[in-house]
Amino acid sequence: METSVKETKFAADRMLGKLAKWLRIMGQDVSYGQHLSGHGLIHAARLENRLILTRDRKLRRLQPPDFLFIESDQYREQLRQVIRACRLDPLDKAFTRCLECNIVLERRSKPSVEKIVPPYVLATQENFSSCPRCRRIYWPATHHQRMLEELQELVT
Ligand SMILES: [Zn+2]
Repeated sequence: METSVKETKFAADRMLGKLAKWLRIMGQDVSYGQHLSGHGLIHAARLENRLILTRDRKLRRLQPPDFLFIESDQYREQLRQVIRACRLDPLDKAFTRCLECNIVLERRSKPSVEKIVPPYVLATQENFSSCPRCRRIYWPATHHQRMLEELQELVT
């Protein structure tokens, strides 16, 4: 069922690369890049109606739209802060977005990836998805499990 609650989209300051990556692991829509600081960050956030995540105390002077000042310089604490402030569920949409392109992944049938993924992966995995932009194929693997454990820790 579709919910009517508008989902928060984020624009992460270029200082917050690890936070941005983990938010994407959680399936959140996060803009991130070298151009995202100061005026560039504010411009991008306005353009796409994104909530700014920043550790830049001077940003306030530039009259930014909505922003969340990130308190900690530890990414786990940063994640906890964003999860709390925006009431995110870290597991709900985990692993549904390309970590490079920030695009929602598409489910792929097993036969459609037959010639692309290594044979042992094909033999041991059932669920595949791919990024519509970079074409990278994703499947649950061991590092996946570690990330999941880390996300679970965040909610306890
Ligand atoms: Zn991609």
